[in-house]
Amino acid sequence: MAHEQSFLELIEAWDGSGVVVKHDELTGSWVFVALHDDTLGPMVGGCRMKTYACPEDGLRDAMRLARGMTHKWAALDLPCGGGKSVLAIPGPLSGADRRGLLHRFGELLNTLDGAYGTGEDLGTTPEDMRVVADVSKHVVGIHGIEGAPSDPGPFTARGVFAGIRSALRHRHGTDSLSDRTVLVQGVGDVGGPLARMISKAGGTVLLCDLDQNLAFAVSVEIGGSVVTQDNVYQTECDVYAPCAVGATLNPGTIPSLRCDMVVGSANNQLESNADADALAERGILYAPDYVVNGGGALAFTLIHQGQRNVAELDRRVRGIGDMLDEIFAEAVAAGESPLNSAARRVERVLQNAKNKD
Ligand code: NAD
Repeated sequence: MAHEQSFLELIEAWDGSGVVVKHDELTGSWVFVALHDDTLGPMVGGCRMKTYACPEDGLRDAMRLARGMTHKWAALDLPCGGGKSVLAIPGPLSGADRRGLLHRFGELLNTLDGAYGTGEDLGTTPEDMRVVADVSKHVVGIHGIEGAPSDPGPFTARGVFAGIRSALRHRHGTDSLSDRTVLVQGVGDVGGPLARMISKAGGTVLLCDLDQNLAFAVSVEIGGSVVTQDNVYQTECDVYAPCAVGATLNPGTIPSLRCDMVVGSANNQLESNADADALAERGILYAPDYVVNGGGALAFTLIHQGQRNVAELDRRVRGIGDMLDEIFAEAVAAGESPLNSAARRVERVLQNAKNKD
């Protein structure tokens, strides 16, 4: 059996600035704040609430996600550093217990004095962030900004949609969706709007969700079809759009895939970086997740900076497609996977910022 890393081993091996670890005795939860890199600005990233098999898995998740945030902010060239928090709960948490944990998390944020700002993520809601904001000003969502949209999901979906168009252009010379089939895995805040955009643009949509009723309801609405969990990786499609959980691209799934490209919103889609090479070897174009899924982060940062014009926000989010055009072209020119080209883009941005200091 593989050796599971202990807290100490995980911390020793990490390349980030530091981690905050706290046990919340009242709920039996673990609270992790992973602070990765503040080269570009204060560290910002969402707060995930989830039940893990063991607390170490929660810390590992926080670290991976925080590194992903550094990459995401740098790829988008925005003035934020990478951080992420995880509330590893022992089981479903509601009512006073949930509010208590969120308040204590907010108080922990206060001790970091602005080094890290949080927002909603998988397992947390806008209401949860309002509870944290009761005790802490380090919630960076856009609550309280009048007229601002409260859900980043549709913006993220728009970015993924622009990414799908970019991948189609790169592969086929046209970004038309007619005669193309997109398999959307996870029909939530991102996957739902994405499925509707694809359908509206004339594409065929296949849907898969743990919640089969949800997948079925959206498929009826847009005229798509439902794929069962067992068949998702073997189903033939042009684009596989992972919009649910991470690590769905791994040695177990990649040999089965029957798609031309992978473009989706899920964070950390690759189980390891070697999986990007395995995809390239199979001729499957991979759009690096942290570039494709930056639409919500980009739009909310622009809203924070005062931008309220929805058409302008959309235009900027669609720019993710232009970024991917460049990344795909650079990958071809360098004979490497798009993941490496995106990583070099990130390094360039971080190095430029360091040179300016
Ligand atoms: P969500 O919780 O609203 O929706 C996720 C959906 O996936 C749910 O309907 C859930 O039932 C389903 N699901 C969970 N596990 C699944 C599985 N194994 N197979 C199929 N379906 C499964 O989440 P979301 O906000 O839509 O985010 C989706 C992904 O995109 C997450 O990985 C998230 O971290 C990432 N992401 C989201 C945003 C955003 O703006 N919401 C931004 C960047 C990245």
